[in-house]
Amino acid sequence: MTATHHKLIIIGTGPAGYTAAIYASRASLSPLVFEGSQPGGQLTITTEVENFPGFREGVLGPALMEEMREQALRFGAQIRTETITQAKLDVRPFRLETDQGAYTCDALIIATGASAKWLGIGKDEVLSRSGGGVSACATCDGFFFRGKEIAVVGGGDTALEEATYLTKFASKVNLIHRRDQLRASKAMQERALANPKMAFHWHKVVADILTATVETPMGDTVEKIRALQLKDTRDGSLSELPVDGLFVAIGHQPNTHLFKGQLAMDEAGYLHVQKGSTRTEVPGVFAAGDVQDHTYRQAITAAGSGCKAAIDAERYLEHVMVEGLARVLRHDPVELRGTCRGVRARVHRRRARDRVARLSGNRHAIGG
Ligand SMILES: Cc1cc2nc3c(=O)[nH]c(=O)nc-3n(C[C@H](O)[C@H](O)[C@H](O)COP(=O)(O)OP(=O)(O)OC[C@H]3O[C@@H](n4cnc5c(N)ncnc54)[C@H](O)[C@@H]3O)c2cc1C
Repeated sequence: MTATHHKLIIIGTGPAGYTAAIYASRASLSPLVFEGSQPGGQLTITTEVENFPGFREGVLGPALMEEMREQALRFGAQIRTETITQAKLDVRPFRLETDQGAYTCDALIIATGASAKWLGIGKDEVLSRSGGGVSACATCDGFFFRGKEIAVVGGGDTALEEATYLTKFASKVNLIHRRDQLRASKAMQERALANPKMAFHWHKVVADILTATVETPMGDTVEKIRALQLKDTRDGSLSELPVDGLFVAIGHQPNTHLFKGQLAMDEAGYLHVQKGSTRTEVPGVFAAGDVQDHTYRQAITAAGSGCKAAIDAERYLEHVMVEGLARVLRHDPVELRGTCRGVRARVHRRRARDRVARLSGNRHAIGG
């Protein structure tokens, strides 16, 4: 399959991918962006986003992502609705394939995100998308459960951290765990066990989510969680726990299977980046957003790292160009004349753009 070549390819159109696309397009890198099976990323499956700066009344997740998409397109990013099925990072240029074509690039930004793990009962995922009171993100949704009784499923550090955080809002937090011992660190356990707002349900799993049809202030109806049906893992007996919300905290799955064996990742599959940057250990490959961040996993942090990745990629590409020039200088003075003309033209174009931006009072260049 013949491949089309691009200077920069970005995989993913969540906040990280779009932000990288906006910065890279403004730096004249003409990025090609692949959006995969979830155009707009995780925020397209939520309703209200209240913590993304710039929207004092909050904004609907899909609407926010549509704005980012339009902003990226405005500066010239090319977006394709294709899923990368293969990546070869041990060749130069890097080679990517989808079921529709092959592509090569000098630099690559991976912004493929991470997906929350659900309970496997189907209803939890459906209710998380419809605003039915199920969530996989305490930081995002805890605020909506002020004064309510809720449940958290899980037994690791994340589950206890989220449960403890949720006690700031909820009247009571029920922790549901399949065993009678938690996997979380001792310090975290002690803090949670001492919290008067927390109750522990040992040897229990969620067998079903029971709902009620509720009328919204707009006059629509929506299915909302009213209780959990819990199953005892020892004798299979069933019980009911009335709650207004459920937080599933059994982990996230970073979308990194394409890069296994090619890029360093931790045991959960999060990509490893060099401290303070978005550089992976393969020069020219950068990672941004949830795919490399198991700690924060927020839209704003994903967007921030997308910006960093675009700046890192631009610097890398400039460095490669200078290196190439030096190589030519050493070996082929005739080709050098042609290359120098190209570089002079690029510098000239950039200066002209800078002048226009200064005159119009705008900061056009990447990084401000
Ligand atoms: C229900 C829900 C509600 C949330 N609410 C909030 C909130 O209120 N505030 C907040 O700050 N955060 C919230 N978050 C978290 C936030 O959505 C994520 O932190 C953020 O979306 C991460 O952005 P990202 O760009 O790293 O990846 P994602 O948004 O996960 O996007 C990943 C992108 O990569 C693409 N992709 C993956 N694999 C491939 C492939 N092989 N080829 C091509 N493309 C590929 C996907 O299609 C997608 O476009 C919420 C998350 C969820 C699930």
